[in-house]
Amino acid sequence: MIDRIREDTLHLMKIPGLSGHEEQVRYFIKEELKKIGLTPFFDKFGNITVTFPGTGPRVMLFTHMDQLGLVVRKIEDDGFLRFERVGGVPERVLPGQAISAISKNGSTLPGIIGIKSHHATQPEEKYTVVSYRDLYIDLGMATAAEVRANGIEIGSPVVYKPSAEVIANENIIGTSVDDRAGCAVLLEVARQLNSKTNGPEVNIVFSVQEEFNLRGALPVAQKIKPEIAIQIDLLLASDTPDMKDFGEIKLGKGPGISMFSFHGRGTLNGVIPHPVLVEHFEQTALNENINLQKSAHIGALTDLSYVQSVKDGVASIDVGFPIRYSHTPQEMCDLNDLVGLTKLLVSALNSLPKNINLIRD
Ligand SMILES: [Zn+2]
Repeated sequence: MIDRIREDTLHLMKIPGLSGHEEQVRYFIKEELKKIGLTPFFDKFGNITVTFPGTGPRVMLFTHMDQLGLVVRKIEDDGFLRFERVGGVPERVLPGQAISAISKNGSTLPGIIGIKSHHATQPEEKYTVVSYRDLYIDLGMATAAEVRANGIEIGSPVVYKPSAEVIANENIIGTSVDDRAGCAVLLEVARQLNSKTNGPEVNIVFSVQEEFNLRGALPVAQKIKPEIAIQIDLLLASDTPDMKDFGEIKLGKGPGISMFSFHGRGTLNGVIPHPVLVEHFEQTALNENINLQKSAHIGALTDLSYVQSVKDGVASIDVGFPIRYSHTPQEMCDLNDLVGLTKLLVSALNSLPKNINLIRD
């Protein structure tokens, strides 16, 4: 299991898939699901759903395929590209960053986000963050015509140059650990559920556009009408020197659940998990000897915030794996946490009581 999760995560991290442009990621996941013998279902947004029939509560278990990045806003006469941000891209990491621009036919063009030469940088510029509006992408091309001839247009997707590697202690670093690690985990859950003979109906969903507007999974939820929704995504690790006061999530100390999430900037939303699901995951972790971590903070959000309000309400919980350096070009997670998360999910699904009472009266 650990080898498959490692291999899938590393492979998925290297596939570009900006929000709304998930084609290449979707193709890989589709082929993997077919290898397992499953028949995936697709919708107009590009979400992938596979259903494992069962009795008892209907479960939607989902994770997002897309990643944050940039989109071309303007092509200058001299071939430089101006861009908009898609999702929560930190402007601090952009200058000097290697990127991949994706052409109309899906090919990858390497480039860099320009940064003023150090030798010409004035003292007052050294400690300031340059707004993305003043930045530009350099594809090494001399004219707008050359850029367009290479299949780059207004609206073309751009991502951090994909990278993925394993470093000490099975830590994985590179692009889009958020949320390709989640995709690798759900592929493994799908392999293990494939042999299940009873338990709840489980709909595994690989969703789109989460980093863009947090609502890509909504059409699936409206179609499936789940009674329980479990979202798989990152949990912010706070074990680095600059995050010590933030919480207690540590890399390598197991999967976790979010007890509270909220985002007040632009989106006024969040998730407070259903207490019965919290208890079920706590008990499952205890039974399986898995250390279960907990987070509760503002600033992060998943599309579960919207899924929870579908129909007459969905009992919801965010479950995830610790990550460092979220939304930067080099995110880090621990492979062992992904293995623990897979075990936790499979066991929690298989042991979900048929008559679980989710009504709070
Ligand atoms: Zn995510």
